[in-house]
Amino acid sequence: MRLPHKQTTENIDFAIIGVPSDAGASYRTGQREGPAAIRKVSALLRHHNPVLNISPFDYLSGVDYGDLPVVPGYIEDSYKRIEESLFPIIDAGIIPILLGGDHAITLPELRTITKKHGPVALIHFDAHSDTSDEYFGRPYNHGTPFARAIEEKLLLVDQSIQVGLRGSIFSKNHLEIPKAMGFDVVTMEEINKIGIDKLIQRMIRRVGDTKVFLSFDIDFVDPAFAPGTGTPEVGGATSKETMKLVRGLKDLNFIGFDVVEVLPAFDPSEITALLAANIAFEFISIIAYNRSKQSKEEK
Ligand code: MN
Ligand code: MN
Repeated sequence: MRLPHKQTTENIDFAIIGVPSDAGASYRTGQREGPAAIRKVSALLRHHNPVLNISPFDYLSGVDYGDLPVVPGYIEDSYKRIEESLFPIIDAGIIPILLGGDHAITLPELRTITKKHGPVALIHFDAHSDTSDEYFGRPYNHGTPFARAIEEKLLLVDQSIQVGLRGSIFSKNHLEIPKAMGFDVVTMEEINKIGIDKLIQRMIRRVGDTKVFLSFDIDFVDPAFAPGTGTPEVGGATSKETMKLVRGLKDLNFIGFDVVEVLPAFDPSEITALLAANIAFEFISIIAYNRSKQSKEEK
């Protein structure tokens, strides 16, 4: 988006932060290339959001912070470095917009965010619930971050919601796992029945005015619109529905965002990276929209 590349925490409201880790990927790998691909195509983004009628930079200052350090292939070492390097940004009150990376990175993000904010609500867009206890007998990978987040008491689960789950699953009871943990779970099948507007209302009701983190796994979207990802599932949302959904959450109290699982090697026309860049632009627009509301209320 042509933002200045600056590793600063001074006088900024938000930071775009790459997390180029794919040590947690179970099937295809290469999500480490996601941040670079999203940045490249984000040069196409312009500075006014006509739907929310907001020019973010009238209200906000932001930087491209660059990438956090990771250790390829070593997820626990990567987690440690992600947490250490993200903390000063969070501690300075800056809203992070993190670009993955596979979904395993959301665990160290949440660990760091809760150090500052305490447990937070989660809005989780994904074809998968990512609440498995383990994969290959191991606790940290992109199929488990929200199981760990619950165990580590990082989430206000009664105000958290997972949307978009679909596809074949490991067992008859697999969808019951996140529900038993306390998540509200809306499958894609159910979204098809209730429609986007009702889904937005349900998400807003669920979260209320709690501090909330939004985690967007790009495989929420149908592979026709987002083919460049690691574990695609057919029958997902369109890009048009996705933009409407994200914008519909504009009044919530967001303390951070990520968009994960972009895999450029499977994204020859860059449409997946382009969608992720536009989702990040909506996140920036939402932060600005809330600032504009606050400044109107103060007047
Ligand atoms: Mn995921
Ligand atoms: Mn997924």
